[in-house]
Amino acid sequence: MIPLTDTSWQSLSWQDLVIGAISNINDLTQQLNLPQMPHYSAFPIKVPLPYLSRIELGNPQDPLLRQVLCLPAELQNSPGFTDHPLDEANYTPLPGLIQKYQGRVLIIVTGSCAINCRYCFRRHFPYQDFQPDSRQWQLLFEHIHNDDSITEVILSGGDPLMLPDKRLQWIESQLAAIPHITTLRLHTRLPVVIPQRICPDLLNWIAKSRLNIVFVNHVNHANEIDAKVIEAMQILAQHRVVLLNQSVLLKGINDATDELVNLSNALFGAGILPYYLHLLDPVNGAAHFDVDQQQGISLINQLRDRLPGYLVPKLVREVPGDTAKSLIR
Ligand SMILES: *Cc1c(COP(=O)(O)O)cnc(C)c1O
Ligand code: SF4
Repeated sequence: MIPLTDTSWQSLSWQDLVIGAISNINDLTQQLNLPQMPHYSAFPIKVPLPYLSRIELGNPQDPLLRQVLCLPAELQNSPGFTDHPLDEANYTPLPGLIQKYQGRVLIIVTGSCAINCRYCFRRHFPYQDFQPDSRQWQLLFEHIHNDDSITEVILSGGDPLMLPDKRLQWIESQLAAIPHITTLRLHTRLPVVIPQRICPDLLNWIAKSRLNIVFVNHVNHANEIDAKVIEAMQILAQHRVVLLNQSVLLKGINDATDELVNLSNALFGAGILPYYLHLLDPVNGAAHFDVDQQQGISLINQLRDRLPGYLVPKLVREVPGDTAKSLIR
């Protein structure tokens, strides 16, 4: 275990920071000066050091800690919560491909992440069955090539930036060779949890791409944005990457007007615009994070009173079978 107090971790490569992430409850509590506690879940703990360093020592209610620390409430099943709330297995014409919405397809490129978020629906997703192998990638590219209604390809996961840049560059070049593809979007939490991920190898293939590149980041609380994150985002923006954010509305973490106002302002300070605020997917083990839809609407209305329109995210919920994310009003 690398102690936080030894700041030499800051100059590690992103790969080493992924490998060196805190992966057990004793290391986590020890690093954060918290009392010892058991781990209650089959979904492991995973917290990389750059993220850990933004958590307040000795505060069990810290809004970042609450996103990564397993509580006994995870063992409770609640009515309406299931293992696979999005029913995504029914929208995969090819392994790895989810085609639900007009004009864009989503590809699950990996099941791994740099951090394990306790509220994530990924905790039960059978990723091994869905991510494409090399032969299946060829089928995916053929499928996209043959359907000229598709203009945007979204890489998701897991976290697509867990892939080596060589692999990402290969995916980008295959897609860029398809004339009707204009946009490559990545849904990623890595630039925030490990800003060192914005490395020369990544910037290299981005700079050469003919495609519009969009990063939809995932930040839930203003404290997740520190100077290193801002620096990483500035470099991405200089490489003409469009920076958006999606958050999940989480009880005890960001379910207050002030917290959401601070989040939008902190995002804007990093050059990121808020895009979506998701109501929680009803996944088993996450019910204690659930915020009631009516409260979500009321929070968004208060944000509208306090922020310019471009800093108010759209409140949405994913409804299996719908042709777009459902706007909640
Ligand atoms: C969220 C999502 C998209 C992207 O939707 P936007 O509204 O364009 O952000 C595309 N495909 C799937 C399967 C999704 O879940
Ligand atoms: S998919 Fe996103 S929300 Fe889920 S664990 Fe990975 S980084 Fe966290």
